[in-house]
Amino acid sequence: MRGGASSPAADLALKMPPVDAFIALGSNLGDPLAQIAAACDALAHLPHTHLVCASKRYVNPPMGPQDQPDYVNAVVLLSTQLAPLALLDALQALEQAAGRFATRHWGERVLDLDILTYGSQTIQTERLTIPHVGMADRRFVLAPWAEIAPQAQLPDGRHIADLLDAAPNHPLQVMSAVCWDNSDVKATD
Ligand code: ADP
Ligand code: MG
Repeated sequence: MRGGASSPAADLALKMPPVDAFIALGSNLGDPLAQIAAACDALAHLPHTHLVCASKRYVNPPMGPQDQPDYVNAVVLLSTQLAPLALLDALQALEQAAGRFATRHWGERVLDLDILTYGSQTIQTERLTIPHVGMADRRFVLAPWAEIAPQAQLPDGRHIADLLDAAPNHPLQVMSAVCWDNSDVKATD
């Protein structure tokens, strides 16, 4: 699975300095562990992008309808020159390539890739809301995020570690392996 981003927006992004973007990954259909691993690999190969580090994988019960399988979640840090919409295009292309199909609200999915933060930017457009809506009280996002970047902050200054401390209880099982081999990651420029 490889993501492409050859739109004009992606080309324009080449003029931008790299930006840290945290991405949430989720899957609960098919083979979630394999899909999360393949998605990490694909994210690491996005154009003008490095995968800086990846969290362990977290298994947890669904947040929405309960008649669906448990989720596997993870968070990765990208350093990217893709503009926000070009990055969203690339993530949605990866979701489609993984076989994602439309289901009910908060329903099961083969692969979900969400942009949590993009540098310290706040973005509110029809297609994109950054910071991602709802992540501030989702333990299955905050736990892997705090694992790889406890010092990370939202644009409003709130720390991820503090949000995790305050988040509602939600059972999480941490798996020992990271979703991507962090030792194989190139240093960012
Ligand atoms: P969810 O992840 O909330 O379950 P979807 O993955 O189905 O929902 O995405 C629905 C829409 O959310 C997408 O079409 C996308 O345009 C929009 N969206 C808004 N902000 C973001 C973001 N920060 N990251 C990813 N998608 C986003
Ligand atoms: Mg999504």
